[in-house]
Amino acid sequence: MYPRIEIDIEKLKENINFLSNKLKKNNLNLILVTKSFCASNEVLKELEETDIKYIADSRILNLKKNQNINKEKILIRIPMLSEVDDVIRYSNISFNSELDTILKLNERAKLFNIVHKIVLMVDLGDLREGYINQDELYEVIEIIKSLKNIKLIGLATNLTCYGGVLPTNKNLNRLIDIKTKAESIYEEKLDFLSGGNSSSLYLIENNEIPKGITNLRLGESVVLGISTADMNYIEEMNHDIFKLQAEIIEIKEKPSVPIGKIGFAAFGLKPKFEDKGIRKRAILAIGKQDVNIETIVPCEKRLKILGGSSDHMIIDITDSKNDYKIGDIIEFDLNYSSLLMLSTSEYVYKKIKK
Ligand SMILES: *Cc1c(COP(=O)(O)O)cnc(C)c1O
Repeated sequence: MYPRIEIDIEKLKENINFLSNKLKKNNLNLILVTKSFCASNEVLKELEETDIKYIADSRILNLKKNQNINKEKILIRIPMLSEVDDVIRYSNISFNSELDTILKLNERAKLFNIVHKIVLMVDLGDLREGYINQDELYEVIEIIKSLKNIKLIGLATNLTCYGGVLPTNKNLNRLIDIKTKAESIYEEKLDFLSGGNSSSLYLIENNEIPKGITNLRLGESVVLGISTADMNYIEEMNHDIFKLQAEIIEIKEKPSVPIGKIGFAAFGLKPKFEDKGIRKRAILAIGKQDVNIETIVPCEKRLKILGGSSDHMIIDITDSKNDYKIGDIIEFDLNYSSLLMLSTSEYVYKKIKK
C-alpha cells in the first residue's frame, strides 16, 4: 500500500550499534529518541534485541503505545499538568522544570502507590526548557527531598534546539558542577546526567566530552547518520534507512507554463514558471498534507519536483531513462523534518524492509 515509508531495519540496527559502542567506550549510555518514526511499535519490537536500555519520546502517546517494549521509557518533553496521570502510568522517568507539575506528579503517584522518577532540566544557555537560575534549581531540589512519591535521579540539559548553542567541554563541565551541588543538597548520589542530543556527538569525536556525563539522547544522528553540530554525515553510518515511496496516478505531456491569468495557487502562493516547452509530468498520490515537499529529494537525480498541493505532487520525468507507467513507484530520500512529518501522517504507511 502506498504512499509509504520503507524502513531498512538492519541498517537502523547497524546505526544504533555503531553509536551505542562509540558511547560505551566513553562510559555513556545511548538513549534512543524515537519521535522521528513516531515510536512505531513495529520498529521498536525489531529493536528489542539491541542493547539499548532506554527509549525516549516527547509525546506520552508514543510511550503509551509501547508498553509491551521491555525498555525504560523516558518522557523528554516537560509534562503538561493535564497529562500527569498518563505520565505516571506510561513513563518510568520524566524530564521536569516546574515545581507545580512535580507536586502534581507526586500527588498522583501517591494515589497510584508508586514512586515516579524525575530528571530536572538545566538551561545552559540555549533558552528552551530548564532552570537557568541555579538558586531556583537548588530550592526546588530542597522541596523534592520531602516528596515521598518522587525520586530525583539526575539532571539533563538540552542544547542546539532554540538558540543553536553548541555543547562544549566548558558548558557541560558547568552541568557537572551543578550536579555535584545538587547531590549535596539532595543528600544522595544522582547517577543520571544527560549531556544533550545528537549535537553532543562531536565532543566524543574530539575527546572533549567531560567525565561524569552518563548518557546522550540521540535521535537524528541514529536515523540519518548525521553529526548535527556541523550537519556532516558520519562516514561509517547508514544515511538511507528511510525512503518515501509514492505511486504515479497520472502521466501527461503538458506545457511548463500554465495557460491563463495567474492568481493564487494552493496554500495562497503566487507561483512563478520558467518556459521549458512541453514536458512529461507525473502526478504522485501524496501531497503537502503529508510532507513539506521542498524537504524531500527524488533518489533518481534526473527527476525534478515541480510542485504540489495538499494531496498531489507533480514531478518532471522528461529526463528520466526509465519508462514510467501508471502505478509505478517513485522513491525519495528524506531529511529529519520530512521523516517526522511523514511518520505522523496517518495516510502514509510504514513498511519494514528486512
Ligand atoms: C528531540 C529531542 C532529543 C533528540 O534530539 P536529536 O537532535 O534528534 O538527537 C533529545 N532531547 C530532547 C529533550 C528532545 O526533545
